[in-house]
Amino acid sequence: MYHRNVSKANLFGLEKTALRGVVHELGEPAYRAGQVYSWLYKRRARSFADMTNLAKGLRQKLEEAWDLRWPAVVETSVSADGTRKYLFRLDDGATIESVYIPEESRRTICISTQAGCPLKCAFCLTGIGGYKRNLKPWEILGQVATVMEDIRPGDPGGEHGEALPWNIVVMGMGEPLLNYEATVSALRVLMDSEGFGVSPRKLTLSTVGILPALEKLAEEPVRPNLAISLHAPNAVLRRALMPIEEKYRLQDVIAAAQKYPIPRGGLVTYEYVLLRGVNDTEGHARELLALLRGTRCKVNLIPLNPAAEIPFKAPTTAAVDAFARILALGNLTVSVRRPRGQDILAACGQLNLKRASAVGAAAPAI
Ligand code: SAH
Repeated sequence: MYHRNVSKANLFGLEKTALRGVVHELGEPAYRAGQVYSWLYKRRARSFADMTNLAKGLRQKLEEAWDLRWPAVVETSVSADGTRKYLFRLDDGATIESVYIPEESRRTICISTQAGCPLKCAFCLTGIGGYKRNLKPWEILGQVATVMEDIRPGDPGGEHGEALPWNIVVMGMGEPLLNYEATVSALRVLMDSEGFGVSPRKLTLSTVGILPALEKLAEEPVRPNLAISLHAPNAVLRRALMPIEEKYRLQDVIAAAQKYPIPRGGLVTYEYVLLRGVNDTEGHARELLALLRGTRCKVNLIPLNPAAEIPFKAPTTAAVDAFARILALGNLTVSVRRPRGQDILAACGQLNLKRASAVGAAAPAI
């Protein structure tokens, strides 16, 4: 197995309060913490030497005591549609993936919060691949920093003339609310105007609805948008697809989601993966409509992204259309997610630890 020899702790990933402590310990004035913070997250310096407005002595002290690094990229795949998938190898050999999705009016980064996932939803490759561990804040932030720095002028969605706004979705590997502290710490730095500066309206966290954590998130001073993975119109079917239903019930998850304060009065999104013949009939659509009618929400229908290991089929186009029409006629706001990056296994639910490790093992050690 691959182990990096890590002697110094990583400064990248620390929040403002922690940086203040570091600067204080080094005997430096407090305002230096703000400068270092800005270099780490706003200007995304790759070394202490780059932090040119810091006194040389301070740069040296930082260099001696701290590391500054992002997770190592071992492979990048580019899809015919411009989507890019990044495979990272972490210090303990765990592998994770992030996806960059260029769109017309924005550019989206999809990030992971766990290596693998313990939830084992029946249609998701990540769950089938198993669970390794929670990610640390620097491993979450490092995915964003890496993608932002990799996209260059001339790339699809890259800056040409006016830069498209960044959109971040916490929809990669893992369940973010099972890694609450690290995820929320990373989100704070992402949404901070002195940090990455991503507006809370442009950041969406997707969860199956881990209730105690969801209630806690609702109390945070700055919160992202919320997407709930629903996938079934009733508890019996949801239980068959998502083992977590046993612990956190559909009705309770919806009740908690409706109470969640979305930034600027936006709407909760309910994600619904359509599986042929399993949850995609007109009867299911009517049941879903009855379940959500009267709640302030939007529904995002996701035709299954199939893979050999997934024991379900993608819905027919006619079934997707009929399903969407029933919801729309019932006055629900509905959208259908277009698959992106399927040819490189970058689409929703296709991020997989086992495949990733197999690819990673073949890549040269760096
Ligand atoms: N654990 C969180 C974050 C992962 S988000 C959650 O479940 O919400 C990943 C999204 O992609 C979820 O809505 C998930 O259900 C969906 N998804 C998983 N497997 C999929 C597949 N094979 N095809 C399409 N969408 C899938």
